[in-house]
Amino acid sequence: MRPAKLLLTTIFGPYGIKNKYAEGLGMQMELFNNQITREQGVHSPRTNFFTFPLYFLAENLSSVSTTVLDFPTWRAFVRELKKGYTHVGISFVQQNVLKAKRMAEYLRKNYPEIKIIVGGYGTMLPDLEDIVPCDEICRGEGVSWLREYFGENPDAPIKHPIMHGVSQKYLYGFREVIDDSGMIFPGLGCTNGCFFCSTSNKFNNSYIPFLPTGESVFAVCEEGQEQLGVDGFAIIDENFLKMPDRARDLLANMEYHRQPYSFAVFSSAETITEVGVDFLVRLGVCLIWVGVESEKTLFSKVKDIDVRSLVAELQAKGITVVSSSILFAEHHDKKTLEQEIDWAIDLGTDLHQFMQLIPFPGTPLYTRYVAEGKMIPDFPYTKLHGQDELAFYHPHFTSREAGKITRKAFRRKYETDGPGVLNMAHTVIRGYETARADMEFREETGLSWNPGTLRYERSGNYQPDEFMKLRIEKMRQRALEFRPIILSSRIFAPNNDCRKKAAQVATLYNEALGTPTLQERVKSFALVGFATIEWFRIQVKRLFGKREILRQPPIRRVEYNTESSAPSRVEAAEIPTGLQHRCNPST
Ligand code: SF4
Repeated sequence: MRPAKLLLTTIFGPYGIKNKYAEGLGMQMELFNNQITREQGVHSPRTNFFTFPLYFLAENLSSVSTTVLDFPTWRAFVRELKKGYTHVGISFVQQNVLKAKRMAEYLRKNYPEIKIIVGGYGTMLPDLEDIVPCDEICRGEGVSWLREYFGENPDAPIKHPIMHGVSQKYLYGFREVIDDSGMIFPGLGCTNGCFFCSTSNKFNNSYIPFLPTGESVFAVCEEGQEQLGVDGFAIIDENFLKMPDRARDLLANMEYHRQPYSFAVFSSAETITEVGVDFLVRLGVCLIWVGVESEKTLFSKVKDIDVRSLVAELQAKGITVVSSSILFAEHHDKKTLEQEIDWAIDLGTDLHQFMQLIPFPGTPLYTRYVAEGKMIPDFPYTKLHGQDELAFYHPHFTSREAGKITRKAFRRKYETDGPGVLNMAHTVIRGYETARADMEFREETGLSWNPGTLRYERSGNYQPDEFMKLRIEKMRQRALEFRPIILSSRIFAPNNDCRKKAAQVATLYNEALGTPTLQERVKSFALVGFATIEWFRIQVKRLFGKREILRQPPIRRVEYNTESSAPSRVEAAEIPTGLQHRCNPST
């Protein structure tokens, strides 16, 4: 029998273009521009992330020759199939089901011998098998599923891939060629079980840890530093702090090895209050995504928590806060929705995601809405992205007006708080100043870190806090990285208030770090040059009725377990971008 040869692929691009397979709005392969810095024009960071789960799956198959194809065009996908695969795994989210369908139908027609495996959130669709022809559906955790499918030991140790997170990044039109961060994938799922949440419900409200200890997370950081030269990591885990012992253990490892790595994490409010903000600062959390959802405490994760004070403390101590809230919830009418938007903006977080309530198949919300007849019949799955039309009958809003209200909410956030990158620069410099002042205070008063209580406390045996000195130096470096954007954010600010804010942030930087060096000035002015070109390009696009410049993520192809002996992983050169459709730009 022919040995198995597996292709793991994402759905094909281009992305963010409305056609018969997918929507445009709300479907870029860009988290920020799609649903966080939406409406921020030239200030919106344009970032694509690798489809990390596919690399994770490939890395954990030991006997099967596997290729990962990330962000292929249709042509690249078709060409890849000529390489003699026995199995093709297509990973997709619900909104891209028609792209998965096209790929699977092409396979059935041209390669009927190839087994088709589908995976990802798209597998939560109840009528998936009627839409996408396939042989197997991987519904749960994929590593053990694939291992079992190919006759391997599903409980073999997990091998974590060491890789960068970002495939492409533009800031003010300038393409950053060095990605200084890595990606860590400690586990799947979340035990909070919020009624609308696909992630939690896909894994039956349970958490599946891949890196169960702080030591295992630290080992991945060390490898990342060694192989990629990075010391900052995006932790892709729905609620990383939900296992506080792992986070404590990670800090203990960093302190022991004197390695102040930094992290971007997702965490719910109740877990943050449990460990405390000082712990997060010490741990090196520089960005945290918190789902605040609603002013009405409908969820246990925000019950009895003063969200506003929590946000203020996080920001004062230098942690960028990305918040997210839900629009068009059941309790919203015209007045309360406006109040809810005001509340979310008043939190003053650095970045905010407004997401419409989406009854995703597989969630309790969907089951209830179907039972109550609230779902709009035949609402296309392609439109379940939460930025335009509602998929259900809302008593106070039409499906169509929801899109306009959502867009206006993003616009208000932008005009009130200014560009998100400026807010981040503000938080970073405040945090650096706070950390220095707090350190001085502790030195004067003899307060030491108590890893047991996760607090600074008076102890009879005061020792200089060398680890925190390293941490503060990292904060200083991070502040310096943000400095060049301040001038561009000021010049292209949406209004006078935001221009004044940019000027105040520049003053804070001067006070904390001294006046800018010649090199820093050159960087700032160079960025203004790029920003000006980007700004003109956006205006031209708008003249032609387009929302913005759309950028496609580069195609990436990586081979694992090839027949050639030496490395188990062979990374092909990037397929030239000329092969991509250069048109418009998703999740
Ligand atoms: S806390 Fe977040 S990840 Fe967890 S169930 Fe709720 S929405 Fe989902």
